[in-house]
Amino acid sequence: MIYFFIILGLFVGSFLNLVIDRLPKKQTIIRDRSKCDFCNRKLEWFELIPLVSFIIQKRKCRHCYRKLSFYYPFTELTTGVLFGLTFLTGNSLYVIPYVLFAISLVIVSCLIIIFFTDLKYGIIPNQVILFASSIALLYLTLNTPYLILQHLLSALFIFLFFLLLILVTRGRGMGMGDAKFAFFIGLLLGFPLTIFSIYLAFLTGALVSIILILLGIKKLKKDTIPFGPFLAGSTLLTYFYGNEILKLLLKLLNL
Ligand SMILES: [Zn+2]
Repeated sequence: MIYFFIILGLFVGSFLNLVIDRLPKKQTIIRDRSKCDFCNRKLEWFELIPLVSFIIQKRKCRHCYRKLSFYYPFTELTTGVLFGLTFLTGNSLYVIPYVLFAISLVIVSCLIIIFFTDLKYGIIPNQVILFASSIALLYLTLNTPYLILQHLLSALFIFLFFLLLILVTRGRGMGMGDAKFAFFIGLLLGFPLTIFSIYLAFLTGALVSIILILLGIKKLKKDTIPFGPFLAGSTLLTYFYGNEILKLLLKLLNL
Protein backbone atom coordinates (compact mmCIF):
# COMPACT_ATOMS: atom_id res chain seq x y z
CA MET A 1 0.00 0.00 0.00
CA ILE A 2 2.72 2.49 0.94
CA TYR A 3 4.58 1.82 -2.33
CA PHE A 4 1.39 2.64 -4.19
CA PHE A 5 1.22 6.07 -2.51
CA ILE A 6 4.94 6.76 -3.06
CA ILE A 7 4.56 6.03 -6.78
CA LEU A 8 1.33 8.06 -6.91
CA GLY A 9 3.31 10.88 -5.25
CA LEU A 10 6.04 10.67 -7.92
CA PHE A 11 3.44 11.18 -10.66
CA VAL A 12 1.60 13.93 -8.77
CA GLY A 13 5.02 15.55 -8.19
CA SER A 14 5.55 15.58 -11.95
CA PHE A 15 2.26 17.52 -12.28
CA LEU A 16 3.22 19.83 -9.38
CA ASN A 17 6.38 20.74 -11.36
CA LEU A 18 4.08 22.15 -14.05
CA VAL A 19 2.05 24.14 -11.51
CA ILE A 20 5.22 25.41 -9.81
CA ASP A 21 6.70 26.70 -13.08
CA ARG A 22 3.53 28.00 -14.71
CA LEU A 23 1.52 29.67 -11.90
CA PRO A 24 4.15 32.40 -11.24
CA LYS A 25 4.34 33.06 -14.99
CA LYS A 26 0.54 33.08 -15.32
CA GLN A 27 0.56 30.34 -17.98
CA THR A 28 -2.15 27.74 -18.49
CA ILE A 29 -1.50 24.54 -16.56
CA ILE A 30 -3.87 21.92 -17.88
CA ARG A 31 -4.18 22.51 -21.63
CA ASP A 32 -0.51 22.52 -22.53
CA ARG A 33 1.78 19.51 -22.31
CA SER A 34 5.21 19.65 -20.64
CA LYS A 35 7.94 21.24 -22.72
CA CYS A 36 11.71 21.48 -22.61
CA ASP A 37 12.76 24.67 -20.79
CA PHE A 38 15.26 25.54 -23.50
CA CYS A 39 14.02 24.46 -26.94
CA ASN A 40 10.27 24.39 -26.08
CA ARG A 41 9.81 21.00 -27.72
CA LYS A 42 6.78 19.15 -26.34
CA LEU A 43 7.79 16.06 -24.36
CA GLU A 44 6.75 12.55 -25.38
CA TRP A 45 4.91 10.34 -22.89
CA PHE A 46 8.04 8.28 -22.19
CA GLU A 47 9.93 11.43 -21.24
CA LEU A 48 7.34 12.19 -18.55
CA ILE A 49 7.93 9.15 -16.33
CA PRO A 50 8.99 10.66 -12.99
CA LEU A 51 12.64 10.12 -11.99
CA VAL A 52 13.11 7.31 -14.56
CA SER A 53 13.15 9.58 -17.63
CA PHE A 54 15.49 11.99 -15.90
CA ILE A 55 17.97 9.21 -15.06
CA ILE A 56 17.77 7.41 -18.44
CA GLN A 57 18.25 10.65 -20.40
CA LYS A 58 21.19 11.53 -18.13
CA ARG A 59 19.63 14.89 -17.19
CA LYS A 60 19.54 16.05 -20.81
CA CYS A 61 16.82 17.10 -23.24
CA ARG A 62 16.68 14.49 -26.06
CA HIS A 63 16.41 17.24 -28.63
CA CYS A 64 18.74 20.10 -27.69
CA TYR A 65 20.94 18.18 -25.20
CA ARG A 66 20.81 21.03 -22.67
CA LYS A 67 21.04 20.04 -19.00
CA LEU A 68 17.72 19.95 -17.15
CA SER A 69 17.20 21.40 -13.68
CA PHE A 70 17.63 19.15 -10.66
CA TYR A 71 14.45 20.74 -9.29
CA TYR A 72 12.31 18.38 -11.40
CA PRO A 73 13.35 15.03 -9.90
CA PHE A 74 13.65 16.72 -6.48
CA THR A 75 10.00 17.85 -6.53
CA GLU A 76 8.90 14.38 -7.66
CA LEU A 77 10.93 12.62 -4.99
CA THR A 78 9.69 15.04 -2.28
CA THR A 79 6.07 14.44 -3.27
CA GLY A 80 6.60 10.67 -3.35
CA VAL A 81 8.16 10.63 0.13
CA LEU A 82 5.54 12.98 1.61
CA PHE A 83 2.64 10.98 0.13
CA GLY A 84 4.16 7.90 1.76
CA LEU A 85 4.44 9.81 5.05
CA THR A 86 0.83 11.00 4.76
CA PHE A 87 -0.21 7.38 4.46
CA LEU A 88 1.91 6.34 7.46
CA THR A 89 0.97 9.21 9.78
CA GLY A 90 -2.64 9.38 8.59
CA ASN A 91 -3.15 6.65 11.21
CA SER A 92 -3.79 4.19 8.36
CA LEU A 93 -6.90 4.15 6.28
CA TYR A 94 -9.22 2.39 8.71
CA VAL A 95 -8.97 5.08 11.39
CA ILE A 96 -9.12 8.11 9.12
CA PRO A 97 -11.82 7.99 6.43
CA TYR A 98 -10.77 7.94 2.77
CA VAL A 99 -12.05 11.45 2.10
CA LEU A 100 -9.94 12.99 4.85
CA PHE A 101 -6.91 11.08 3.62
CA ALA A 102 -7.44 12.38 0.08
CA ILE A 103 -7.80 15.94 1.44
CA SER A 104 -4.52 15.49 3.35
CA LEU A 105 -2.77 14.58 0.10
CA VAL A 106 -4.13 17.78 -1.51
CA ILE A 107 -2.97 19.90 1.44
CA VAL A 108 0.51 18.31 1.29
CA SER A 109 0.60 19.03 -2.47
CA CYS A 110 -0.27 22.71 -1.87
CA LEU A 111 2.55 22.99 0.66
CA ILE A 112 4.99 21.44 -1.85
CA ILE A 113 3.87 23.97 -4.51
CA ILE A 114 4.39 26.89 -2.11
CA PHE A 115 7.80 25.54 -1.04
CA PHE A 116 9.10 25.41 -4.61
CA THR A 117 7.43 28.51 -6.14
CA ASP A 118 8.89 30.66 -3.36
CA LEU A 119 12.30 28.95 -3.58
CA LYS A 120 12.53 29.24 -7.40
CA TYR A 121 10.64 32.48 -8.12
CA GLY A 122 10.17 34.24 -4.76
CA ILE A 123 6.41 34.04 -5.19
CA ILE A 124 3.64 32.46 -3.13
CA PRO A 125 0.70 32.33 -5.57
CA ASN A 126 -2.58 33.71 -4.17
CA GLN A 127 -4.57 31.00 -5.96
CA VAL A 128 -2.73 28.27 -4.04
CA ILE A 129 -3.33 30.00 -0.67
CA LEU A 130 -7.02 30.49 -1.44
CA PHE A 131 -7.43 26.90 -2.65
CA ALA A 132 -5.47 25.44 0.26
CA SER A 133 -7.44 27.50 2.82
CA SER A 134 -10.78 26.31 1.42
CA ILE A 135 -9.54 22.71 1.52
CA ALA A 136 -8.32 23.14 5.12
CA LEU A 137 -11.76 24.53 6.05
CA LEU A 138 -13.41 21.51 4.43
CA TYR A 139 -11.07 19.20 6.34
CA LEU A 140 -12.00 20.90 9.63
CA THR A 141 -15.71 20.76 8.86
CA LEU A 142 -15.53 17.01 8.20
CA ASN A 143 -13.05 16.08 10.92
CA THR A 144 -13.34 18.46 13.90
CA PRO A 145 -16.19 20.96 13.34
CA TYR A 146 -16.04 22.08 17.01
CA LEU A 147 -12.52 23.42 16.35
CA ILE A 148 -13.38 25.64 13.35
CA LEU A 149 -13.73 28.85 15.39
CA GLN A 150 -10.50 28.18 17.29
CA HIS A 151 -8.58 27.56 14.05
CA LEU A 152 -10.10 30.66 12.39
CA LEU A 153 -9.00 32.79 15.36
CA SER A 154 -5.50 31.23 15.22
CA ALA A 155 -5.35 32.11 11.51
CA LEU A 156 -6.45 35.70 12.11
CA PHE A 157 -4.06 36.13 15.04
CA ILE A 158 -1.00 34.83 13.16
CA PHE A 159 -1.94 36.90 10.07
CA LEU A 160 -2.03 40.08 12.20
CA PHE A 161 1.27 39.08 13.81
CA PHE A 162 2.88 38.87 10.35
CA LEU A 163 1.32 42.20 9.30
CA LEU A 164 2.87 43.80 12.37
CA LEU A 165 6.26 42.25 11.52
CA ILE A 166 6.03 43.57 7.95
CA LEU A 167 5.18 47.06 9.25
CA VAL A 168 8.03 47.07 11.78
CA THR A 169 10.64 45.72 9.33
CA ARG A 170 9.16 47.79 6.46
CA GLY A 171 8.75 44.72 4.28
CA ARG A 172 12.38 43.69 4.35
CA GLY A 173 12.77 39.95 4.68
CA MET A 174 9.06 39.26 4.57
CA GLY A 175 6.17 40.06 2.26
CA MET A 176 2.40 39.91 2.09
CA GLY A 177 2.69 36.43 0.54
CA ASP A 178 4.18 35.19 3.82
CA ALA A 179 1.37 36.83 5.84
CA LYS A 180 -1.33 35.19 3.70
CA PHE A 181 0.52 31.88 3.93
CA ALA A 182 0.65 32.26 7.72
CA PHE A 183 -3.16 32.68 7.70
CA PHE A 184 -3.47 29.30 5.99
CA ILE A 185 -1.04 27.71 8.48
CA GLY A 186 -3.14 29.03 11.39
CA LEU A 187 -6.30 27.64 9.79
CA LEU A 188 -4.70 24.24 9.21
CA LEU A 189 -2.90 23.74 12.52
CA GLY A 190 -4.85 25.82 15.07
CA PHE A 191 -3.54 26.55 18.55
CA PRO A 192 -0.93 25.69 19.86
CA LEU A 193 0.61 23.91 16.84
CA THR A 194 0.62 27.12 14.73
CA ILE A 195 2.88 28.86 17.27
CA PHE A 196 5.19 25.85 17.26
CA SER A 197 5.33 25.72 13.45
CA ILE A 198 6.01 29.47 13.01
CA TYR A 199 8.64 29.40 15.75
CA LEU A 200 10.35 26.45 14.05
CA ALA A 201 10.28 28.32 10.72
CA PHE A 202 12.00 31.37 12.24
CA LEU A 203 14.55 29.15 13.97
CA THR A 204 15.47 27.12 10.87
CA GLY A 205 15.29 30.24 8.67
CA ALA A 206 17.77 32.08 10.88
CA LEU A 207 20.03 29.03 11.13
CA VAL A 208 20.15 28.43 7.37
CA SER A 209 20.65 32.17 6.67
CA ILE A 210 23.63 32.29 9.04
CA ILE A 211 25.14 29.18 7.41
CA LEU A 212 24.62 30.61 3.88
CA ILE A 213 26.20 33.93 4.90
CA LEU A 214 29.14 32.18 6.60
CA LEU A 215 29.68 30.04 3.50
CA GLY A 216 29.65 33.22 1.41
CA ILE A 217 26.72 32.01 -0.69
CA LYS A 218 24.49 34.90 0.38
CA LYS A 219 25.43 38.43 1.36
CA LEU A 220 23.99 39.96 4.52
CA LYS A 221 22.36 43.06 3.03
CA LYS A 222 22.10 42.32 -0.67
CA ASP A 223 20.37 38.98 -1.06
CA THR A 224 17.08 38.10 0.53
CA ILE A 225 16.33 34.53 1.44
CA PRO A 226 12.67 33.58 0.85
CA PHE A 227 10.86 32.69 4.08
CA GLY A 228 8.09 30.62 2.43
CA PRO A 229 10.13 27.40 2.11
CA PHE A 230 10.89 27.47 5.85
CA LEU A 231 7.21 28.05 6.69
CA ALA A 232 6.19 25.25 4.32
CA GLY A 233 8.82 22.85 5.69
CA SER A 234 7.98 23.48 9.35
CA THR A 235 4.25 23.25 8.60
CA LEU A 236 4.72 19.87 6.92
CA LEU A 237 6.73 18.61 9.89
CA THR A 238 4.14 19.96 12.35
CA TYR A 239 1.26 18.58 10.27
CA PHE A 240 2.79 15.10 10.41
CA TYR A 241 4.46 15.00 13.82
CA GLY A 242 3.41 18.18 15.70
CA ASN A 243 1.36 16.45 18.38
CA GLU A 244 4.09 13.87 19.06
CA ILE A 245 6.80 16.56 19.24
CA LEU A 246 4.65 18.68 21.58
CA LYS A 247 4.01 15.70 23.87
CA LEU A 248 7.74 14.96 23.94
CA LEU A 249 8.58 18.59 24.75
CA LEU A 250 6.05 18.66 27.61
CA LYS A 251 7.49 15.42 28.96
CA LEU A 252 11.03 16.84 28.84
CA LEU A 253 9.91 20.03 30.63
CA ASN A 254 8.31 18.01 33.42
CA LEU A 255 11.56 16.17 34.13
ZN1 LIG B 1 15.37 20.90 -25.29
